[in-house]
Amino acid sequence: MTVDAPARRAISELSADELGAWLAERGEPAYRARQLRRWLSSGVSFSEMHDLPAGLRADLEAGFRANSLEEVRRTEADRGLTTKLLYRLDGGYTVEAVIMRYARRSTLCISSQVGCPVGCPFCATGQGPFGRNLKAHEIVDQAVDAQRRLLTEGRALSHVVFMGMGEPLANYDAVVESVRRIADPAGLGISPRRVTISTAGLVPRIGRLAAEGLPLTLAISLHAARDELRDVLVPINRNFPLSDLIASADAFGQRTGRRVSYEWVLLAGVNDTERDARELGSLLRGRLAHVNLIPFNPVQEAPYAEPDAYSVRRFARQLRGEGLNVTVRDTRGREGDAACGQLRARALAEDAGAGGEKSRGNRGLVSGASASTL
Ligand code: SAH
Ligand code: SF4
Repeated sequence: MTVDAPARRAISELSADELGAWLAERGEPAYRARQLRRWLSSGVSFSEMHDLPAGLRADLEAGFRANSLEEVRRTEADRGLTTKLLYRLDGGYTVEAVIMRYARRSTLCISSQVGCPVGCPFCATGQGPFGRNLKAHEIVDQAVDAQRRLLTEGRALSHVVFMGMGEPLANYDAVVESVRRIADPAGLGISPRRVTISTAGLVPRIGRLAAEGLPLTLAISLHAARDELRDVLVPINRNFPLSDLIASADAFGQRTGRRVSYEWVLLAGVNDTERDARELGSLLRGRLAHVNLIPFNPVQEAPYAEPDAYSVRRFARQLRGEGLNVTVRDTRGREGDAACGQLRARALAEDAGAGGEKSRGNRGLVSGASASTL
């Protein structure tokens, strides 16, 4: 792994105040900051910021990189509607982001950590080693880069989902700061209402998030409605059992007025049985909730299988019979390496032995470490 610091800072590392001070030092008028920040949120290079004076553009070029991320791999799927990107961060680690284009929205699936300390056994990210937390600007830069691509297609980024690599609430401060920056009307201007944070269930952090005053959507990765099974599928359940998790989600819903989503990765024969439907029914019935079924996307070496289409429909029907609101997630990007962490997992496998990115193993964190490490 390369550890050399890059020569120039990424401009996204500067706060609005720092940017203003940098401009003021150059004797620029106050309105320049607004102008520059608008350009920066569109992801264009400094040389393309045509209404800035040439001297300022040259100073920007000499002083900063326009984005902290370096694209190292890109794959297109769904006839160009899905773009999967692998970025290299400062220090050498890589993370992925996925752009999904729909008729009336363009959604970015964003990463918040290199790897994930939770270690769910069905997840490519959880199987791999944990690297580090992303900084707020590295999270924002994924959105800025997606915006740059989408603008050239006559589209604009409209939604952001924290469903890429990592457990967003385990990198709490950077994630919340990135949401505020992404929402800033002087920048990307994407309302928190169009942002979803997906969590494996860090209960104390759900409480903190509810108090932030951000009307975002909370998605809870449930996957099991009995502790005994969830302890295996989502290991932090041993620290934060279902009763506490549901109570914190209810409190989030009450505090923010937002309907909570529950995600359920369907693993054939493991959590798609009638018993599971009944248990989920009694857990969520009567709540302001929505269940999102995600057919398992096979991950190398994970001991699980994807249910067939009939079983998916049957499980959805059973849940509706239990009185729940249910949708089945469309399986975008299946042609390539769709599930979180798969693009990176493949790139790492290819790099192995060739001096590629190295990191330490992280499995079993929950049994070994206290919940506070998360
Ligand atoms: N760590 C967070 C957010 C990232 S994962 C969380 O777990 O919620 C986003 C979603 O993708 C989660 O619901 C996760 O369970 C699901 N997921 C992970 N691996 C998957 C796979 N192989 N197939 C289908 N969904 C998967
Ligand atoms: Fe982490 Fe989410 Fe993957 Fe679990 S499913 S290992 S919490 S990224």
